Amino acid sequence: MSDAGTTVIAVASGKGGTGKTTVAAHLAIRGAREMPTVLVDLDVEAPDASGYFKGVRRSGDASEVSVLVPRLVEARCTGCGLCAKACRFGAILSIGGVVTIDPKVCKGCGSCVNACPAAALEEIPMTVGQTSSFDADGLAMLEGRMAIGDIRSTAVIEAAKKRAAESRAALQVRDCPPGVSCPATHAIEGADYVVLVAEPTEFSIHDLGAAARLARGRGIRAGVVINKDGFGDADVAGFCEREGIPVIGRIAFERERAASGAAAELWSDDAAISGEMDAILARALAAAGARTVGGRR
Ligand code: SF4
Ligand code: SF4
Repeated sequence: MSDAGTTVIAVASGKGGTGKTTVAAHLAIRGAREMPTVLVDLDVEAPDASGYFKGVRRSGDASEVSVLVPRLVEARCTGCGLCAKACRFGAILSIGGVVTIDPKVCKGCGSCVNACPAAALEEIPMTVGQTSSFDADGLAMLEGRMAIGDIRSTAVIEAAKKRAAESRAALQVRDCPPGVSCPATHAIEGADYVVLVAEPTEFSIHDLGAAARLARGRGIRAGVVINKDGFGDADVAGFCEREGIPVIGRIAFERERAASGAAAELWSDDAAISGEMDAILARALAAAGARTVGGRR
């Protein structure tokens, strides 16, 4: 739990299409019955959690996310090339004393500006995405969304995380990007617990292992929710036992349920799902050291 008294549950998966966003949305809905909760969509390349809520509406202004990129002041440039050497992202070329900057590749780290002995680089803001707040049928929601064609997802993820922290909700449920690359790492960073969603297929188990290692590497406890339990014959529970990862929930496969989940429909009227989501959330909160749903710490 953070110093602000917020418990952060990150919902992640080693691959897309496992039902991660469905689980995140349901956990947030169930959590909101007990405590101030915010659902945070950090799948910034293709945020879709808001699509699960029929009456979703914006609840505030969108906030632009920008990074500071260098702009060359040619009159001061000596052509020394130190800026290009300082950029580990390949955003600056210095050929024959002529400097070219590609601002779309720039990560805004500032190394080139610091390296320039002639103060020939100025920093200017460049928009890379936005964060937006929503009222999702009574549930508070925050979304990070990258600008079209941009590749700087981590700046948007960090901005959405910052805005979520400012909401001072008792519970944050993060819908993380799938995979184990840089965006997923940023999305789970700072979480108190990671819920990993997997399906009973060999492919999903392979990626689950990578996601579990990512959480372990960040020192964050994790548990697995098996979605479409009973559909495939790959042994997710056996894998979890061997890896020492607890299975904290199972969503039994039903053809109709799977179809509605794929169509971004909530299972709000499904008592079995609601009960299972309550149990998953209680286990995650207990492991995170927070108070359990309907109970006390
Ligand atoms: S700010 Fe960083 S990433 Fe951008 S051009 Fe300079 S060194 Fe490269
Ligand atoms: S470090 Fe500064 S002076 Fe040297 S090439 Fe780059 S911009 Fe020009």
